[in-house]
Amino acid sequence: MLEIVVLGAGPAGAAVALGLKRLGYAVRLVSEWRRFTAVEGVSQRVLDGLRQAGLHHALACAAAPSPRRVLWNDDGQSINQESLLDRSRFDTAIREDLREAGIEVLEARVLKVESTDDGHLIHLEPGEPLRADFLIEARGRSAPLAGGRLRGPETLSLLNQWQEAPGQPASAVESLPDGWAWMARLADGRCYWQITLDARDLPSKDQLPEYCARRRSESALVRELFGPEALQPASLHARSSTAILFHEASGPNWLRVGDAAMAVDPLSGNGIFQSLSSALQAPAVINTLLQHPERADLARRFHQSRVEHLFLRFARTGRDFYALEQRWPDHPFWRDRRTWPDAERLHAPADFAQVRVERAPVIHGDLIEEAEVVVTADQPLGIWHLQGIELAPIVSAFKRGELTQALATLQEQPRRMVQGWLLAQGYRP
Ligand code: FAD
Repeated sequence: MLEIVVLGAGPAGAAVALGLKRLGYAVRLVSEWRRFTAVEGVSQRVLDGLRQAGLHHALACAAAPSPRRVLWNDDGQSINQESLLDRSRFDTAIREDLREAGIEVLEARVLKVESTDDGHLIHLEPGEPLRADFLIEARGRSAPLAGGRLRGPETLSLLNQWQEAPGQPASAVESLPDGWAWMARLADGRCYWQITLDARDLPSKDQLPEYCARRRSESALVRELFGPEALQPASLHARSSTAILFHEASGPNWLRVGDAAMAVDPLSGNGIFQSLSSALQAPAVINTLLQHPERADLARRFHQSRVEHLFLRFARTGRDFYALEQRWPDHPFWRDRRTWPDAERLHAPADFAQVRVERAPVIHGDLIEEAEVVVTADQPLGIWHLQGIELAPIVSAFKRGELTQALATLQEQPRRMVQGWLLAQGYRP
């Protein structure tokens, strides 16, 4: 029997394990518990991703959406919503989802992995070394990195935690001259304040609690959200939050998913969503590598291109959000992040001249295969189906001057949808 082992029981590792189990593979997870407590704010996209992954207990941990105040570029206060997620409870619920699916989780720390073309030897503490034919690296930012293909400005987040009386849950985010702060209070009175700064810009470690307390005392938003306890030094945990794209997302007998493949700036509030995105496609990629080794290049190209595409989309979204803050243009924190990773637009404008048909890897059921897709300026990876309708035959028909005939084969509603899509791409009849 093939031994498939996933390293790390975060959302990404768990989503891959559940997906592989559904495809009938025996899969084991090795993970230690997270070494710190944290609360994160999650968007509806994260909740949808958890549901799609079948992580129902984990999904149930997210609190109902609560108001989030946003103070950015001195533009007055805007209010939106986010759900607060207690990461310790979330991790426990993920294990519950795995247990229910009958997936074994080995509690151990991975010390080292020795890999060859024939398999992997995983050294654990405690425990005997474990052998694997196929390995999924999902240890998040703790996965060995050895550089990375693309790395954003070095960034550190200092998470402070203290206790107040129970009350209404709420969160807030504000820009500061040298970074930004996110803060939240849970219904049970646990309070969190996290400042994100340039890693070059920090006081020494022993001064950090006092430093953070002073920064809180300067914030009107902190005074609005918290009681006087917020002005005292609090328990503190530092987390690297540099955006990192790992140089390779797969090999012939291994795959990286989640933060181990690419980790984004926490400003997006979508880290769990992006970690799930690469994990949800992974079972089909692994299934193809194992069942159709002749398609290995195609499957790996699929995984790599999606990971890179997603990373750049999030990096550019972050860049544009940093650029909205214009009060401190010369401060290195804002200057460096406003221009990274490049100057390319987040969404390329429609250009019908660029719409073309290409062969590209796509997910078809539980496998990766090659199909004709439509590539546009904004969708360089290509679109295979538009709500169930294959687009390539329609664009090919257009190129042959037979668009009217191709559209005539569709029912009225799909025809209108395709016509709408063509117009949105810049097509003018
Ligand atoms: P992880 O969740 O990190 O899971 C990795 C697992 O591997 C853990 O269980 C860990 O214990 C285990 N592990 C690690 N090393 C070993 C080892 N050697 N041996 C055994 N097991 C090991 N995302 C949001 O959606 N909203 C937010 O508000 C948000 N805020 C963030 C703030 C900061 C400062 C940072 C750094 C990130 C934030 N994120 C946020 C991102 C989010 O935390 C991650 O994107 C997400 O947890 C990644 O999931 P993962 O499964 O890839 O890795």
